[in-house]
Amino acid sequence: MRTPIAAGNWKMHGTRAETASLLGAMVGGLDSARKAEVIVFPAFVHIADALGAVGDSGIAIGAQNVSDQPKGAFTGEVSAAMLADMGVTHTLVGHSERRALFGETDEAVAAKFIAASKAGLVPVLCVGESLEERESGATEAVVKRQLEAVVSAAGAVALNNAIVAYEPVWAIGTGKTASPEQAQAVHAFIRGLLAEHDAKMAGSLRILYGGSVKGSNAAELFGMDDVDGGLVGGASLNADDFLKICAAAG
Ligand code: PEP
Repeated sequence: MRTPIAAGNWKMHGTRAETASLLGAMVGGLDSARKAEVIVFPAFVHIADALGAVGDSGIAIGAQNVSDQPKGAFTGEVSAAMLADMGVTHTLVGHSERRALFGETDEAVAAKFIAASKAGLVPVLCVGESLEERESGATEAVVKRQLEAVVSAAGAVALNNAIVAYEPVWAIGTGKTASPEQAQAVHAFIRGLLAEHDAKMAGSLRILYGGSVKGSNAAELFGMDDVDGGLVGGASLNADDFLKICAAAG
């Protein structure tokens, strides 16, 4: 039995006041009998406020990025240990915007994954193909390459304390959602691929879908066998919509 997850990636949005009001609405509106884990990923500068706002509500706070280095002369970077020391429990690694806009390679993503794991954070490893890659039939090859880079650097055992998010790039922020069948096909592929390394780990790994999830489409996506919840961008900035998504997760 895999505990479902509803995760909100706020990207570079919000003010301190908006962080307090959005999380206040979340804390007030979440079903206390929910099964789903809820994780919110604010910008670094809002993490302290976010931790204060969620208190002991059970909402976890994650980071959107992390350094691959433990400490030192790396101006502008934030280490995994610094995040853990704040009370952060999760971090995204390899979000497609980091890969595409900031040149993060599969190897760099693997190094961040390892740094996060070492500090006790749960890495949320984001993988997914571009539209061009999907249209040329390369979806599985791309996702395999992205996953194998982490497995070969960190070992399959490291996935026991990680989450994978399948986020087709063509669906992120575009309003174009993968169909439940398209999502399920790639999620099943990911689980099958990882099962070749460690069947037990693959069976218990949470694999989230991300890409234009909304309150109106979350239930049918999360209803698929291998979809264990969602990583949500735009809709996580609206409390009513994100609460609907949390309810759909379980
Ligand atoms: C994301 O940024 O991870 C994401 C899935 O964004 P959106 O939900 O806006 O497509």
